[in-house]
Amino acid sequence: MADVLRPDICVIGAGSGGLSVAAAAAAFGVSVVLVEKGRMGGDCLNTGCVPSKALIASARRAQQMREADAFGVAAVDPQVNFRRIHDHVRDVIAGIAPTDSVERFRALGVTVIEAQARFEDSKTVLAGETRIKARRFVIATGSRPAVPPIPGLDTVRFHTNETIFEITRKPAHLIVIGGGPVGLELAQAFRRLGSQVTVLEAARALGREDPELAAVVLDRLARDGVTLRSGARIARVAKRRSGVRVVLDGEDGEETVDGSALLIATGRAPVTDGLDLDKAEVKVDAKGIRVDRTLRSSNRRVYAVGDVAGGPQFTHVANYHAGTVIRSILFRLGAKVSYDHIPRVTYTDPEFAQVGVTEAEVRERYGHFRILRWPYAENDRARAERETDGFIKVITTTRGRILGVGIAGAGAGEIVQMWGLAILKGLDIKAMTGFVSPYPTLSEVGKRAAIQFYRPSLTSPWVRRIIAFMRLFG
Ligand SMILES: Cc1cc2nc3c(=O)[nH]c(=O)nc-3n(C[C@H](O)[C@H](O)[C@H](O)COP(=O)(O)OP(=O)(O)OC[C@H]3O[C@@H](n4cnc5c(N)ncnc54)[C@H](O)[C@@H]3O)c2cc1C
Repeated sequence: MADVLRPDICVIGAGSGGLSVAAAAAAFGVSVVLVEKGRMGGDCLNTGCVPSKALIASARRAQQMREADAFGVAAVDPQVNFRRIHDHVRDVIAGIAPTDSVERFRALGVTVIEAQARFEDSKTVLAGETRIKARRFVIATGSRPAVPPIPGLDTVRFHTNETIFEITRKPAHLIVIGGGPVGLELAQAFRRLGSQVTVLEAARALGREDPELAAVVLDRLARDGVTLRSGARIARVAKRRSGVRVVLDGEDGEETVDGSALLIATGRAPVTDGLDLDKAEVKVDAKGIRVDRTLRSSNRRVYAVGDVAGGPQFTHVANYHAGTVIRSILFRLGAKVSYDHIPRVTYTDPEFAQVGVTEAEVRERYGHFRILRWPYAENDRARAERETDGFIKVITTTRGRILGVGIAGAGAGEIVQMWGLAILKGLDIKAMTGFVSPYPTLSEVGKRAAIQFYRPSLTSPWVRRIIAFMRLFG
């Protein structure tokens, strides 16, 4: 006979979202059961953010060694050892893992059950031998790689993010299908670590992003030697003696791309299977669990957070979701999610970051707006670091309300943060000129862009004097 637990909250999935909910609830002294069927830490720790950023760090070191000459330090062709890179990636994961571990969560007072969870009815979850009747359930089951139905794919070995960080030998030629953030981050990393890399993208690489800003990143990838084929129509894939062949439908008939390894990076699919959600009367669609802005599902006892909740799929969004449901469940504050101030970052070199609306979106929604830019080439720190590729683009209303910011350039993921705060707090562009930015920092590109807001008034000698003053002392 199964044990019955009656906690306040039952969380399903111990990834970024589930762990944040469980830790916060436990900190408020609320009884929590956390159910995880696989590895604690979920995708981000084991097969996503952490290993990818560790691999990118290795690639950056290798590239810096090649480019050292310009700094007066003799450049060398780096000796790359994939087994040791694998060890480095594992070591970084192992360093973070205790924070997400079963032991830590039990010490926080959370009851952790290592089993697959499924609903028995609208009020009950079964996990192994335990039946959980919670006041509220939070589904945080994340996402998995969406593998497209390419003919022949079932006959070849291919990698996804779940296996690519396990490799211990350099792929001679890595073919990446998918030119989104994950595909491009890994394409550049493998190229810099010595692999030949071809990216096949059905539409436009970084297609969701501002094309002008995306071009900065794509141009750098091309200079690194990544072959990028946009508009690629894949007819089929086939096995070769040592590797894989991708056949493309070209203008003049079929073309082939031969590689030694294949990575599928064509997006993510929510994990809703195996949960018996129909028994819980929780509705799903192709994006995941259908939730309202409080992240509540069609069953009012059940919330969803993170990748499975159908919104932007990032660890910081999963954490934000967790904060939102905690406020609803514990304090009945009815907090609602809004994504206007949530940044997204692609960790290529240079980085790409966006918060708020893009230029294309603003053109659809607003009749009049302002676009302010500032190039990295005009930033003294960027010059010193020889990282002058890129620019910042700030979009405001004609009265100066900040609507969106896109950055392609070094440190974009750091610089975008103050703009996320500005949008969240409703600051206008004047606020972004009126603070003291330490010199020389890359973030100054933002302040310089903000000053551009006052440029049309340049005919006024008074405004001209203020701008000259800000340029000198701002
Ligand atoms: C290669 C890659 C790089 C990425 N890089 C970044 C980045 O740099 N920054 C960023 O913000 N985001 C990044 N992401 C996205 C980020 O990893 C996800 O947004 C985040 O992990 C989502 O957290 P989650 O809690 O929703 O799901 P997950 O972390 O996937 O956790 C879900 C957990 O639920 C468990 N589970 C599923 N079903 C059940 C069940 N029935 N019973 C019990 N347990 C179950 C799973 O085993 C898993 O542990 C990256 C993703 C990938 C693939």
